[in-house]
Amino acid sequence: MIQHLKHFIEGAFVEASDGGRMSLISPVNEEEFATAARGTSEDVARAVAAAEAQLDGGEWSKLSGSQRGGLLNRLAALVERDAELLAEMDAKCIGRLPMEPRMMDVPNAIGTFRAAAGWANQLEGRTIPTDGYMGTRTLSYTKREPVGVVAAIVPWNAPLMITAWKLAALLAAGCTVVIKPAEETPLSAVHLATLCQEAGFPDGVVNVVTGLGQVVGRALCEHPSVSKVTFTGSPETAREIQRIAGASFKRVALELGGKSPQIVFDDANFEHAVRGCALGLFVNQGQVCAAGSRILVQRGVAKRFSAALAQAAASVKVGDPSAPGVQMGPVAKKAQFERVNRYIQSGIDQGAELLAGGVSNPEKGWFVNPTIFSGASNDMAIAREEIFGPVGTIIEFDSEEDAIALANDSEYGLAATVWTENLSRAHKVAAALKVGAVGVNCWSPLDPNLPWGGIKMSGIGREGGFAGALAYTEEKVVTVLLP
Ligand code: NAD
Repeated sequence: MIQHLKHFIEGAFVEASDGGRMSLISPVNEEEFATAARGTSEDVARAVAAAEAQLDGGEWSKLSGSQRGGLLNRLAALVERDAELLAEMDAKCIGRLPMEPRMMDVPNAIGTFRAAAGWANQLEGRTIPTDGYMGTRTLSYTKREPVGVVAAIVPWNAPLMITAWKLAALLAAGCTVVIKPAEETPLSAVHLATLCQEAGFPDGVVNVVTGLGQVVGRALCEHPSVSKVTFTGSPETAREIQRIAGASFKRVALELGGKSPQIVFDDANFEHAVRGCALGLFVNQGQVCAAGSRILVQRGVAKRFSAALAQAAASVKVGDPSAPGVQMGPVAKKAQFERVNRYIQSGIDQGAELLAGGVSNPEKGWFVNPTIFSGASNDMAIAREEIFGPVGTIIEFDSEEDAIALANDSEYGLAATVWTENLSRAHKVAAALKVGAVGVNCWSPLDPNLPWGGIKMSGIGREGGFAGALAYTEEKVVTVLLP
């Protein structure tokens, strides 16, 4: 049965103001499996008004940090209860194996809500010694106040987890939100909003407006009552958002893409590094912002390592995620399928050696081949641009200095992995890498207590950890004259 999804505004399911709907298409068989309301700027205005009403005297604004923390703990328990359903929702929308969100995204979301429950009453101000005011002593202290209504714009690749990162932190800080899920993945966002209601968050604190980025996302960035936009997605969209939001001086946090290096030294634990690199390349069909798609291998082990990684790629069973034994589903959408194949063709055209995979041409479904190139140079498009698919580019290096220079020769700066058994080398290289996060002998270790985000073209700001909650507050200073 085809599901028909509506917005969730002020605790109620609502159709688009003009009745518009959009299709959700299965990447496995290219058939419609659901529809969702195609939001309008009127819908956005209605959701922002509901969110605004809960601030400055609304029921939500009167809750203490401990009370907000209690609600977040209840929400974590409800996400845990519905873990299977939420994993299936995300998997269905993008053709992912449900096992992946079940093992990674959903537990991470639960942990994020639990961690944020603890931060909610830790957002302390400071007492600051001053020089007084015109010869009279003063007392100055600061308070942490919520920034206000937040627009949370989310991509399709890990919808529940990325929504949870934003939602947990902003709720801990006392903000309210309008969530704009990606066109392809509105299911888990709407369900999460209903869980917020069930947990006891006042209606209007968490709202979801589904629809197109150019309409709903844009209207949120333009709305004068939205104080902050938190966005995860592509650099192209981020530029547009920053331009629009900048006109009204909104706070903007951007989590963007990457071309993350995995550096394999000749002293690495070989088997461990092959398995880890394959995970960083192929999990979620490579549609991961931190995908370790640029594999820098020290020349002494390069041939053996390339062969082992190619073997790992060739052994991945691609197909319908519901079929037994399948290890990789299709990519999420047609545009993504075409993009990945275009990059594979460009690697071939630019002279890289194709060790596994290649351009795919399935009869039905957006299935792509796990692909490995070797003999590449760092100026090829497959080494510089984010592909967002299961394509790895192997580049050889000689020395530690070469590896660092190659790794840092990128417009992106999200994450990096270092594979070595030499502890001092690991720390030295980690310090020299120009990225937001380094994993040593582990690819992309996400944890709700750690900050996550990039530098350069990978974005601005951090999500996660206590700093993630602080980012949804403003520090107000109060000075009292003490005559
Ligand atoms: P996208 O930028 O096309 O879309 C992201 C979101 O922005 C969607 O909800 C979309 O509807 C919305 N949007 C589109 N145009 C908009 C506009 N003009 N105004 C406001 N909102 C608009 O990106 P995508 O295709 O959904 O995701 C893929 C990209 O996201 C990749 O580049 C990937 O690296 C990046 N990404 C980064 C992270 C991270 O944590 N750093 C996580 C996931 C994805």
